Amino acid sequence: MNAALITPWSSEYVDYLRDESRSVGSADYVSFPLTEEDVIDVIKSTAESGIAVTTQGARTGIVAGAVPQGGLVLNLSRMKHIGEIVRDDQAGELSITAAPGVTLAEIMDAIEPYGLFFPPNPTEDTASVGGMVAANASGSLSFFYGAVRNWVRSLHIVLSDGDVLCLRRGSIFADGRTFSLPTESGRKITGTLPSYRQPNVKSAAGYYIADDMDMLDLFIGMEGTLGVITEIELRLIPKPRAVGGLTIFFPSENDAVKFVRVVRGEQVDGLVSPIIRPVAIEFFNNDALNLLRRMKSDYSAFGNIPSIKPHYHTAVNIEFHAESADALDELLIDMVEMLSVLGVSDEDTWYAANENELKSQKAFRHAVPEAVNMLIDERRRSVPGITKLGTDMSVPDEYLTAAMEMYNEGLRASGLESVIFGHIGDSHLHVNILPNSTEEYKRGRELYLGWARRVVEMGGSISAEHGIGKLKSAFLEMMYGCEAIKEMRELKRLFDPEMRLNPGTLFSL
Ligand SMILES: Cc1cc2nc3c(=O)[nH]c(=O)nc-3n(C[C@H](O)[C@H](O)[C@H](O)COP(=O)(O)OP(=O)(O)OC[C@H]3O[C@@H](n4cnc5c(N)ncnc54)[C@H](O)[C@@H]3O)c2cc1C
Repeated sequence: MNAALITPWSSEYVDYLRDESRSVGSADYVSFPLTEEDVIDVIKSTAESGIAVTTQGARTGIVAGAVPQGGLVLNLSRMKHIGEIVRDDQAGELSITAAPGVTLAEIMDAIEPYGLFFPPNPTEDTASVGGMVAANASGSLSFFYGAVRNWVRSLHIVLSDGDVLCLRRGSIFADGRTFSLPTESGRKITGTLPSYRQPNVKSAAGYYIADDMDMLDLFIGMEGTLGVITEIELRLIPKPRAVGGLTIFFPSENDAVKFVRVVRGEQVDGLVSPIIRPVAIEFFNNDALNLLRRMKSDYSAFGNIPSIKPHYHTAVNIEFHAESADALDELLIDMVEMLSVLGVSDEDTWYAANENELKSQKAFRHAVPEAVNMLIDERRRSVPGITKLGTDMSVPDEYLTAAMEMYNEGLRASGLESVIFGHIGDSHLHVNILPNSTEEYKRGRELYLGWARRVVEMGGSISAEHGIGKLKSAFLEMMYGCEAIKEMRELKRLFDPEMRLNPGTLFSL
C-alpha cells in the first residue's frame, strides 16, 4: 500500500463513516488525495491489494452512497483546484473546470464576479462538484434548466485499475446499445449497454441508458460505481437580466394543483398559461405550512420567515427569469389577473421583483426540509431507531393528481404525521413521514413501499434526484426488474471487473 497517500483507519476519522443519511459504515483505510495523479496512485495500490474503495465528496448525500462498507475511504474534499473561465467560440459556450472537491458555494463565488450562472443549483451548497455529477443532482430550477447532466461538458474518470477516461460531450456516442471507449493508456473498453428503457420523467435511478447515447452521460449519475471523477468542466450562462417570483397561498390543495397545471402549460377551465415559462414551481401542503408555523413560534432560527396567516392552506412558489425588468413586470401583472380569476386575493401572495427579494422566498422554501431535519433529530434523541422517511419519487405529469390522492389517502388512513413539499412542476414531490416511534417507523416504511410500487406502475421513477445509494437498491430492482439489475452489474464489470468501487451502492452486496 502507498503509505504516503493511504493511512490505516483510526478513530479520528469517524466522521468519514457517515453522510447526511445518518447511516454509519466501517472502513480499514482512508486517503485524502490532492491531485488526479494521487487518485491514480491510490487506486492502483488498492487494485494490487484487492481492497474495496468508497469515493466521497462532501458527504451531503442522503442515500448513503458515500458510506463505506469496509476497505478504503477515498475522500476527495481536498481536491480544490478551480480553473479559469473559458469561452468556446465554436460552441458559443462558457465553462469552468474544477477538481471534484470544489463545493457548489465555491463555484458560485468563482463565477459571480463575471455575472455568470450555474443553474441546476441543488440546494445544499456545501455539496462537491464531483458528488453533484456522480449523483446527477438537481434543484428547484431544474424544472426549466434540467439536472446537472445538462451542464457537464467534459469529465476525467479514473477507472478501477488506474487507467483514465477523458470524455467530452459530443465526441463519443453509442451505436444503438453498443459502445467502444478509448482510455488514456490506449486500451478500448467495448461492450453492450443494458436493454431497459428509462421512464420519461425526472429520474436519478440507476445508470442513464439510451440508444445512440453520448457516452459521457453514462458517467453522470453513476454514483461512483464505474470510476472516480477527477476533473469536471461545467457549462455556464450569463445571469438572467431580471428575476422575480411569487409565493401564492391557496384556500385548498385542489386550487393550488389547478394553478400548477395552468402555469406549466395545461388547459384548465379556460385559464391562460403565462407567456414566460417559470423556472421553478414548488409546492407546500397544509401540514408543511403548519410545521413552519410551529417552528416559527418555537425556535428563533425560524424567526425570519414571514408570518403565515391562519387561512393559508396550501402554498405554491414560482420563479421567473426574464429578458428585462419590463418583461418581468408585465408577467407579474398577468399573474395577478390569473390569480384573481382563481379567487386568490392579492393580499394572499408574496411578491419578489428582484434577486434580493427572491432570497427571502428561497429561505422560506428551504425552511421546510430544515424544519423536518430538526424535528427528527430531536425525536431521535429519545427514539434512536427512527429516521424521517423521505420519498423522492416522480410521476408522469398526467398522474400528478392520482399520485397526490394516493399520498393523501395513505397518510389519512395511517394517521402518521407528515409533510409534503417539493418540485411539483416536475410532478416530483417529497413526502416526509415523521415517525414518533419504531412502530410508526415500520408502518411508514410499508406505506412508502406500497407507494413505490404504484409509482412504478404509473411509469414514474422511485428516485428523481437523490439517487439510489445503499438505501434504495430494492426500489431500483422494483423499478427495472432483476434482469435489468443483472445487465447493470455486467456493465459495471466492464469498468470495474472486481466490483471494488462503491460496494453496496446501486446493488446490494
Ligand atoms: C439539506 C440537503 C438538501 C439537499 N437538497 C438536494 C436537492 O435539492 N437536490 C439534490 O439532487 N440533492 C440534494 N441533496 C443531496 C446531496 O446534496 C446531493 O446528492 C449532492 O450531489 C451530493 O454531493 P456530495 O459532494 O455531498 O456527494 P457525497 O454525498 O459525498 O457522494 C454522493 C455519491 O456520489 C459519489 N461520489 C462523490 N464524489 C464522487 C467523485 N468525484 N467521483 C465518483 N463518485 C463520487 C459517492 O460515492 C456517492 O455515491 C441535499 C442534501 C442535503 C443535506
